[in-house]
Amino acid sequence: MKTGKISVQSENIFPIIKKFLYSEHEIFLRELVANAVDATSKLKALANKGEFKGETGDLNIEVIADKEAGTLTIRDHGIGMDEQEMDRYLNQVAFSSAQEFLDKFKDDLNIIGHFGLGFYSAFMVSEKVVVRSLSWKDGAAPAQWSCTGDTDYTIESCEKAMRGTDVILYLNEESKEFLDQYKLEELLRKFCKFLPVPIQLGTRKEKVADPEAGEDDNAKAEEIEVPNIINNTDPLWKKSPADLTDEQYKAFYQELYPYSPEPIFWIHLNIDYPFNLTGILYFPKIKNQFEIQKNKIHLYSNQVFVTDDVKEIVPEFLMMLHGVIDSPDIPLNVSRSYLQADSNVRKITTYITRKVAEKLGDLFKKNRSDYESKWDDIGTFIRYGIISDEKFEEKAISFALLKNTDQAYRTIDEYKEAVGEVQKDKNGKLIALYTQDPVQHHGLIRQCKDRGYEVLVMDQIIDNHFIQHLEYKADVRFKRIDSETISQLIDESSSAESVLSESDQNKISALFKGLEVNKASDTQIKAMSPQDDPVQIVRPEFMRRMSEMQRMMTMMKGEGEDLFKDSYTLIINSNHPVIAKKMTELTDESAQKELASYLTKLALLAQNMLKGEDLSMFIRNSIEKVS
Ligand code: ADP
Repeated sequence: MKTGKISVQSENIFPIIKKFLYSEHEIFLRELVANAVDATSKLKALANKGEFKGETGDLNIEVIADKEAGTLTIRDHGIGMDEQEMDRYLNQVAFSSAQEFLDKFKDDLNIIGHFGLGFYSAFMVSEKVVVRSLSWKDGAAPAQWSCTGDTDYTIESCEKAMRGTDVILYLNEESKEFLDQYKLEELLRKFCKFLPVPIQLGTRKEKVADPEAGEDDNAKAEEIEVPNIINNTDPLWKKSPADLTDEQYKAFYQELYPYSPEPIFWIHLNIDYPFNLTGILYFPKIKNQFEIQKNKIHLYSNQVFVTDDVKEIVPEFLMMLHGVIDSPDIPLNVSRSYLQADSNVRKITTYITRKVAEKLGDLFKKNRSDYESKWDDIGTFIRYGIISDEKFEEKAISFALLKNTDQAYRTIDEYKEAVGEVQKDKNGKLIALYTQDPVQHHGLIRQCKDRGYEVLVMDQIIDNHFIQHLEYKADVRFKRIDSETISQLIDESSSAESVLSESDQNKISALFKGLEVNKASDTQIKAMSPQDDPVQIVRPEFMRRMSEMQRMMTMMKGEGEDLFKDSYTLIINSNHPVIAKKMTELTDESAQKELASYLTKLALLAQNMLKGEDLSMFIRNSIEKVS
């Protein structure tokens, strides 16, 4: 038997481990299982090379909870360690790497949460750790290392028939939860779901049909105990895309995100130069944009779960995607700010962005109609990408689509080509007309179409930003179809002569201003075509965008209350016969008022803006008139 002191360089490591890692102590399990996987993989490699000539036998790693003894054992049948190796690896290698790790990161608690510190993380949850091991080498003697969470350890010989290592944790009082089967299963599924060696946690019952019995003779089905294997040792992203079917990709998505709606499509990443990266990124079905969940991409390093916080590795717009990225080349044990500056990480980011853009481009080229059918689901993502990432924009601008009110989808260039001749302002600039709500703007849309204009549907939250982006980059000007009177939308120069005198116009304008139902922030009288509606409601584009922005900001700040009322302008067409003639011919002021009020309500009604009491009174009066 050998006793000794773990050489302490600066300070006692154990209190630090306990203090700093307390909140994330569950990672000990990942660290120990990962070590067991390493030891097993090494044995397999030795067997492949012919250096290990015996039977490898069952290589499953077992996690065994013993409630009575209060111990948790992680058992592998890997290469094992003899006495010298224990001394070297556990007292020196493991200790000094743990020490180094803590020295580096004790000020950065965040990172400690995500990246383990190896074998010594066992002391976060244990008052004593015993390692019993039998090396693979011929004639090796089993040995036992134990340590009670201070710097003293013992190494002695022991009995052990099976090759491999048992790491036995005598759990401390606060960590007894790790004896619970459910807790263990939850943690193993989180960290070890795709490790390359089977991880067994107890057994489970499985029904096996008795081969003697008839096929549907359920009563005779036998229940047998089978190992409860936690992980899928051969995850899809490690396979070759050529060997995989759509069904397999979809099934894997369900494995990652149970009970989620089917993904729209996916991208299989596979690269080995200049860095190593595999993975599958899925485009999820986005039912509505409030549902977009970030942090759904899981980052793995050689099939060991690292984190689902991939901010530094994946550009923000890509975080709408789901799936898995696995790369041993992402430096995990460094701080976050370093990660952003790391050239490997930047290369990875650029690569992923390019791949995603290429895949979308392919889809667009190869099967336009399929791409169009997916647009409503992937459009938000693409618009977000165009706005936020120039590299992505370069490619994606050629396959970003604009949808019009007739459900036709056009690229930006195709759209310009289609409307360029008709929708120009006096300076020759293209005017893109749009609606955020085809139902509310039904009447206006019809009037636009009558004039040969095309109206785009821009009904997503992201569209406000996308519009600004296109105005800046694509030399177009966007106008919502209620931002001006229809005749002014495109042809700003034409303004007709008014048939009414100025004083008549002022009188009529004052009359409308005084109406109770008129809550417009501004009321104007204008000379328009007699065919245009007598009273119209508009929301000037610039003002509306400003107040929308303000509103977004209040919402984001969580100030809740909406201080910016929907303000609008009421425009009276002085050339419409009902204004120019009928109204001026009425001598009774109350009759004039009634007519003005009626026309105002019609204008409100046309835009779905007549509400509450105004609406119910309007309906009641209309019924009385026809009764
Ligand atoms: P790391 O795994 O990063 O090298 P650890 O502190 O986790 O650091 O482990 C230190 C060393 O102890 C390992 O490199 C390995 O040589 C040895 N070791 C740990 N666990 C096992 C095990 N289950 N079987 C064999 N060797 C092990």
